Amino acid sequence: MPDMTNQTTPPQAYRAVMARVAAASAAGAQPTVIAVSKTHSAERIIPLLEAGQRHFGENRVQEAAAKWPGLRALYPDIALHLIGPLQTNKVKAAVELFDCIHSLDRPSLAKALASEFGKQGRSLPLFIQVNTGEEEQKAGIAPLELAGFYRWCTEALHLPVTGLMCIPPVDEDPEPHFTWLAEQASKLGLPHLSMGMSGDFEMAIRHGATHVRIGSALFGERA
Ligand SMILES: *Cc1c(COP(=O)(O)O)cnc(C)c1O
Repeated sequence: MPDMTNQTTPPQAYRAVMARVAAASAAGAQPTVIAVSKTHSAERIIPLLEAGQRHFGENRVQEAAAKWPGLRALYPDIALHLIGPLQTNKVKAAVELFDCIHSLDRPSLAKALASEFGKQGRSLPLFIQVNTGEEEQKAGIAPLELAGFYRWCTEALHLPVTGLMCIPPVDEDPEPHFTWLAEQASKLGLPHLSMGMSGDFEMAIRHGATHVRIGSALFGERA
């Protein structure tokens, strides 16, 4: 149950993050703040819903499917973003559940999404995830393949690609990654950039992020 006595007082961490987002975007449009609620229970999420937060991010289809249908029944105007890797055998469930996918990272997934959109008569805005650090263990399209992959997704598969997403290497300055991603989005004529997490969202906003994905700064450290 939500704590009704606290209904008009947003949690302190939420207010602090929103103030930092507003300050960082002083010169431009405010980005969409995606509250990354992975690993956190509905009980932890409800105070943010009560505070007015409507965009949430999850990285696993199964976890989201267990948590969100119940919350969506109470708060029908939420938007759910898939920010983690998507296996092709979970595409059907993901298209049913999510409102936006930030992790279009390979041709087989592009094909599976195109086919599922056709079957369900529903299509979701997509971000192409780019492996800007060219890390072996990380998902994403290689920088040199981005333009070709984008053209194939939009021209051959007619996918509604809306922007680019990246997760810079943990041990590097994220700034060159944000700068590069913004340049590519501009070259391709894409309006949206999903970049910036708890540790670097202000810098991402200064480089044009339209969607920031914030977890631990809102919910505390994950177990
Ligand atoms: C977990 C996660 C985040 C949020 O990370 P924090 O550092 O907790 O803000 C953002 N993006 C992706 C893709 C994630 O998996």
